[in-house]
Amino acid sequence: MGSPVRTRIAPSPTGLLHLGTARTALYCWAYARHFGGQFILRIEDTDIARSTQESVDQILQSMRWLGLNHDEGPIFQMQRLQRYHEVVEQMIAAGTAYQCWCTPAELDAMREKQKARGEKARYDGRWRPAPGKVLPVPPTDVKPVVRFANPLQGVVTWDDLVKGPISIANEEIDDLIILRPAPEGSPADSLGIPTYNFAVVVDDWDMRITHVFRGDEHINNTPWQLNMHRALGATIPRFGHCPIILGDDGLKLSKRRGAVSVTAYQEAGYLPEAMLNYLARLGWSHGDAELFSAQQMVQWFDGSHLAKSPAQWDPAKLAWVNAHYIKQADDQRLASLVHQQLQTRGRHVALDAALVAQCGLFKDRCVTTVELADWVEVYHLAPTPDPAERAQHVTDAVLPALRVLRDRLGSCEWTKEGVAAALKQTLADHGLKMPALAMPLRLLVCGRLQTPSVDAVLALFTREEALDRLRDV
Ligand code: GLU
Repeated sequence: MGSPVRTRIAPSPTGLLHLGTARTALYCWAYARHFGGQFILRIEDTDIARSTQESVDQILQSMRWLGLNHDEGPIFQMQRLQRYHEVVEQMIAAGTAYQCWCTPAELDAMREKQKARGEKARYDGRWRPAPGKVLPVPPTDVKPVVRFANPLQGVVTWDDLVKGPISIANEEIDDLIILRPAPEGSPADSLGIPTYNFAVVVDDWDMRITHVFRGDEHINNTPWQLNMHRALGATIPRFGHCPIILGDDGLKLSKRRGAVSVTAYQEAGYLPEAMLNYLARLGWSHGDAELFSAQQMVQWFDGSHLAKSPAQWDPAKLAWVNAHYIKQADDQRLASLVHQQLQTRGRHVALDAALVAQCGLFKDRCVTTVELADWVEVYHLAPTPDPAERAQHVTDAVLPALRVLRDRLGSCEWTKEGVAAALKQTLADHGLKMPALAMPLRLLVCGRLQTPSVDAVLALFTREEALDRLRDV
């Protein structure tokens, strides 16, 4: 038996929870749950200029909404500066890290020269200690950064859980900055701010992370991270890099061309179980299963069958998945979601049995709870039928029958069956077919021509309201 599985999701709080991060979080969570391990939430907030508390709150909210519950955390990197500082000191003492006093201007000049020579831009190692090498005298007016002394030779290799074996020659990678001076006067002044690649390594080590699933934009960072793990004598986690999610236009899913955050989908009326199901399939499969619960996924998700090629965001498929879960959802639950939705529109309606029944009636035809709220709103908004449709359906030929029906509705039993009987009787008396009455009724009472069966729709109004909407016939 190896050590217990420990996975983590490590979002940076510089915006809302991105769909790609949510998918990774789902994989990490399901993997930990599948193996009875632990799932850790870490907030990578070392980009002080861009990290905000608001993003932290939104990310935590989205994780809760998705039901991706963590066992440890949230752990904030900015609260661990002392620890990074300590590890840097150890590395400097061990010779696996060193201080570098290059100024940005010197680095620019270095890059320009390399480019002019047709070489790849990289740090040239001028402050890297070596036996017999005489280092420059450190300037007093420059605060040094600390760089990792990446091995000069050899190859970094790992067997990626998604992509298979990957190897990069150490000659290809330079000495990465691992600690920068903190901005003047900040609480971290004496400790410095770790860079992403370094903080990740210290954290994954300290948190005994065994498996890292993340987006493949990090693949180029992995060789450094592996080398640093080795330099620290840390146990190296297994890495799995999931391909990016493409937008429906085949380009990288981007804010500029559509919604990319979990929050946006929550607000647009998607259900968390639908998002999880849909996100799971964007890069992973279990036979031909398309609709499954998070629990089923936990049973199946053992890290195999992760796709090597990028998946494409498909709004139509997400709509189909969401419609499925809306149909399955408990009416009471839908009613409270619709209630909230209506409240955000400034429409304060009672969360009562009528609302529950309305949700039950309309849920079969809705893709989102926003659409469901649009339907339910029919019960609370004065209808505004389109004049042309009105002229077409509310004709002199049907008005007498409509009046008779209105009278019958005044006294019938106020249930779907009672309304149906009143309708049937009126149709028979006037020798009409159902659509001749149902269409004008829908239009006058609901303001639209497409609704579920009109008796069911009518019975969910109060009798007074229904009659009121028919008063002008
Ligand atoms: N903070 C990084 C990100 O949001 C985490 C990457 C990782 O999982 O190592 O992309």
